[in-house]
Amino acid sequence: MKHFDSEHWQRYVRNEELSAAQRDEMEWHLQHCEACLEHYMSQVEASMDDLPMMETGEAEFADQLIRRTMRTRRSLFRSSLLHYGIAAAATLILVVSGVFQGLTQEVNAKMLNSPRQPDQTSISDQLMNHTLSWLDKIKKEDDNGGFFP
Ligand SMILES: [Zn+2]
Repeated sequence: MKHFDSEHWQRYVRNEELSAAQRDEMEWHLQHCEACLEHYMSQVEASMDDLPMMETGEAEFADQLIRRTMRTRRSLFRSSLLHYGIAAAATLILVVSGVFQGLTQEVNAKMLNSPRQPDQTSISDQLMNHTLSWLDKIKKEDDNGGFFP
């Protein structure tokens, strides 16, 4: 098996100087070679440090992740597993970009202002419930033949 060096992975991550065929070859290789996956991951981390806008990198990363999942596992497209994956990726972005932190602080402030809370559900539980009901909704629409074309 022909391996790719760090320089190649850097170009791949930065979207530079690679033909479509080369990118395909590298993508395929990435799914089958652990050593190259490590090179790739370290290049992703390095490129994230370089990017002036963190959000752009994260959005792109999640986008690539979702596109790759859809391309390589088409049979999973309609399955709820993919929806869970997308939800997880979205949550990850929220956590990393600090939106989560702001949200948590806001909810905490509200809780402090109303000390007599009937139930002391934790924020993560509330968030989990929201996510689950959201996923249920998607699942229902999916079963009805909707949501995705
Ligand atoms: Zn390799």
